[in-house]
Amino acid sequence: MMLTIDKDYISLIEEGGIFSYSLARGNFILPPNGFSLWNQIRTFLNNSFSKLGIQEVYLPTFIPISSFNKEKNHLEGFSPEFFLVRGYKGSELILRPTSEVLFYEWFSKTLKTYRQLPMLYNQWCQVFRMEKNTKPFLRNTEFLWQEGHTLHHKEKEAIEFIKDIFEIYKEYVENILCISTIVGSKTQGEKFAGAIETYTVECLLPDRQCLQMATVHYFSNNFSKVFKVNFNDNNKLEFPYSTSWGSSTRSIGALVLSHSDNNGLIFPFQISPIQIAIIKHKKNLKIDNYTDLLVKSFIGKYRFKLYEQSSQASINIKNADKEGSALKIIIGNNEVENEELSVSLRINKNKIIVKKSDLFKFIKESELKIANFLKNKSLKNKEENTFFVNSYEKFLSLYNENKQGLFIVQFCNTLKCEIIFKKKFIPFSFRCIINKEINKDKSCMFCNESFSYSSIIARSY
Ligand SMILES: [Zn+2]
Repeated sequence: MMLTIDKDYISLIEEGGIFSYSLARGNFILPPNGFSLWNQIRTFLNNSFSKLGIQEVYLPTFIPISSFNKEKNHLEGFSPEFFLVRGYKGSELILRPTSEVLFYEWFSKTLKTYRQLPMLYNQWCQVFRMEKNTKPFLRNTEFLWQEGHTLHHKEKEAIEFIKDIFEIYKEYVENILCISTIVGSKTQGEKFAGAIETYTVECLLPDRQCLQMATVHYFSNNFSKVFKVNFNDNNKLEFPYSTSWGSSTRSIGALVLSHSDNNGLIFPFQISPIQIAIIKHKKNLKIDNYTDLLVKSFIGKYRFKLYEQSSQASINIKNADKEGSALKIIIGNNEVENEELSVSLRINKNKIIVKKSDLFKFIKESELKIANFLKNKSLKNKEENTFFVNSYEKFLSLYNENKQGLFIVQFCNTLKCEIIFKKKFIPFSFRCIINKEINKDKSCMFCNESFSYSSIIARSY
C-alpha cells in the first residue's frame, strides 16, 4: 500500500494509538504509544549526544519581540511563521519558533573566558509555528523537538563537531528508524537564515516526496557577533564559533509513511512502543499460569502488552497489528503442552513454533531480521525513484510528464538561479547538494554557469 496524507494515514495513526487531534488547529496529542515511541527516539539521541559531552538544559517558551528583532536575517527567515502574544502591560512576546535568540542572550551573559568553551547544550522542548496547511506529525503549529546549540573556541573545533552531529543523525535515521537517507548540504536558497552552511538528513517517502528529518547549521561567528557573545583572549576580544542542530516529531510521520501496511503500523523492534504482544488463544488455568511465567521473564527486558482475555484472539491479533507490535506470541493448549510458543513477526504472516528455551535467542534474531527488512524496503524505494538527469531538456520532459522522485542534476548553487527555478518548477525544490566538489567540466543545467555541483531536486513536504 502506498500511503498518502489522507484518511488512511489518519486512521492508521489514530487506531495505532500514537496520535489524537486536539482542540486547536494543527495541534496533536501523543497518547501512550505515541509518547513511548518519542521516548525511544529521545533515549537513542540522548545517549549519542552525551557521548560527545553534550549537556541537557531548558530555556523558556517566550521571547520578547525586541530581542527577536535584533538579528534581522533570523527574523526575516521566520517572520511569517511565529505566534505573537500579548504580555503584561501590552508587551509583545513571541512563542519560540526556535531558540537561537534565547540561547545567544544567555551565552552573552555567561561567557567570560575561553576556558568555558566549548559549551555544548541540547534542549528537548516544544516549538510553535504558524502554519497554513497542517499535517499530523509532518507540519504542525506546535510540535516537539530537540535543538542543540554550541559555542567553540576555534573554527576547526566547530567544524569537527558538526561532522560528529551529522553522523549521529545519519545513524539515527538509517539504523534506528531504518529509513534510507538522502544527505548533503543545503543550497543558498534553502539553508537556515543566518547560517554559513546547513547540512540535512532527508528521506524519500513511498509517495516519492522528500521529508527533511534533521538539520545541522554552522554559523561561523556571525551569531556571536550579532548577539555580542564574546570573551577576552590575551586582551583581545574574540567571538566564538557556533552551531545549532535539530530533529523533531516529524520522524514519527516518516516512520508511519515508510513502514506501515494495510493492517496498521510497523516499527523497528528497537523503538516499537509495543515490542511483543502476548495473546491467549483460550482462557484456562494452565494457559494463565504459562502466560504469567512468560510475562515475568519479560519484565524489565521488553516493552510488551498482554491483550485482554475477554476479547477473541483474532480481534487481539488485529489490534496488535494496528499498534505495530513487532512480535506476536500466541498461547494455546498445544503451546502449554509442548513447552512452545507460536510466534509471528509483524513484517510477514508466517507463524513459527519456537521452543520456550529458544525464545530469547529467537527475539534477538528477529530484531535484526525486522531491521534489515525495513531498511531494504526503504532503500529499494529510494533507488527505484532516483533519476540521473543530464540535460535541461531531459528535466523539462520529466517535469512535463509529472514524473516524481529524486532528480540528480548539475546546478550552480547561486540564489538567482535557484529563485528562477523555484518559480518555474513548482512544487519542486533543491533538497541538497550531494557533492560539494565544484564540477568545472559540467555547467549548470538551468543557467549555463560554467561550473556546477551534483544536487538533488524533489517535491517535499
Ligand atoms: Zn545555475
